[in-house]
Amino acid sequence: MNLHEYQGKSILESYGVAIQRGVVVDNVEEAVAKAKELSASTGTEWFVVKAQIHAGGRGKGTVEETGSHGVVLAKGIDKVEETVKGILGGHLETAQTNGVGKKVNKVLIAEDVYYPGESEPSEFYMSVLLDRANERNAIIYSTEGGMDIEAVAENTPHLIFKEEIDPRVGLQGFQARKIAFNLGLSGQAFKEMTKFVFSLYAAYEGADSSMFEINPVLKTSDNKIIAVDAKVTLDDNALYRHKAYAAMRDKTEEDPMEVEADEAGLNYVNLDGNVGCMVNGAGLAMATMDIIKLSGGNPANFLDVGGTADAERVEKAFRLILQDKNVEAILVNIFGGIVRCDRVAQGIVDAYKNMGEIPVPIIVRLQGTNAVEAKALIDASGLNVHSAVLLQEAADLVKSVLS
Ligand code: GDP
Ligand code: MN
Repeated sequence: MNLHEYQGKSILESYGVAIQRGVVVDNVEEAVAKAKELSASTGTEWFVVKAQIHAGGRGKGTVEETGSHGVVLAKGIDKVEETVKGILGGHLETAQTNGVGKKVNKVLIAEDVYYPGESEPSEFYMSVLLDRANERNAIIYSTEGGMDIEAVAENTPHLIFKEEIDPRVGLQGFQARKIAFNLGLSGQAFKEMTKFVFSLYAAYEGADSSMFEINPVLKTSDNKIIAVDAKVTLDDNALYRHKAYAAMRDKTEEDPMEVEADEAGLNYVNLDGNVGCMVNGAGLAMATMDIIKLSGGNPANFLDVGGTADAERVEKAFRLILQDKNVEAILVNIFGGIVRCDRVAQGIVDAYKNMGEIPVPIIVRLQGTNAVEAKALIDASGLNVHSAVLLQEAADLVKSVLS
């Protein structure tokens, strides 16, 4: 599950990470009053207004309706309202939104932390993530933080450092010091950075996160180290023990079909192919997608209906698949181990009748308990459903209905 910047920052703060402070609003009326409160508690006179969407690159992104960027500095309380109006409610397109602007439902109004002082502020990059290949956590960091970390990785990869952390012993003091040293820090900033790294790592571990990306980590002109941005991914499987974090889920940021599937207890991932798949078991689903690909089609989705393929579930799954306008055929591939094939077949026939006309051909392969009875049921139904016994047969049928 992904979080918004303001949510990620609230977790960071609870672990003692210094952050750029701010207030969140979802309407213009509240913006000025809240900005004044922020001013009273932090002393800031300038404010940075930041679109809260699940995508990075906001600073360089553009709000379709107004032409504003997604992160804008308001140099004074009198500029806050106008700045918020330029962002809130609009659609923000960034390098990470795949060509469709994302609706901005909330903005974060944050204190300006790039104020002048004894030294120039500098922007670093830091993320903590799970390095699956090494079975360790890793801290990735760079002196070249800010808005172009992808370009840094591409053109000057030697400026990106990696520190691996053995989960059995955790982050060690020498590692935090090495990071601060490699970032070129000394004195007060060095000390603050080691503390920052420890707190950040604690937040990452404590929240059962799979990624905490802070870009930029800012060294302020008075040598404080603070998180200016936060991109956080939490492990869905651990959310049951973080009720407060689970409540941070923003369904408006997710694929509506995937949300609907989730509510129906189906494991569904939308893909861009033309053959819808309905399968029980993740492994079989993947094998089925391979077979579709081999037969010249492209899977339109990954869909694992799980153990109970009754009429109701089958119908939900059909309806979900059919919402995808690219679907030209549906392949049902069910192995009847615990669930009986004839019950699934009956489910398919019932769902079909319930839904009226299904506008695309359906290829059904049912194997396992009562497969013979199941095939007889399908064949006798008189519906636009083709049954297959072998996987190859099913693939050939897909090929023939597509051509
Ligand atoms: P992103 O573009 O989605 O990664 O959004 P960020 O939260 O990283 O903000 C983008 C950029 O806005 C940062 O890299 C900074 O350069 C700038 N920025 C963020 N906060 C402030 C601030 O308090 N003052 C000023 N002047 N610039 C800021
Ligand atoms: Mn950023």
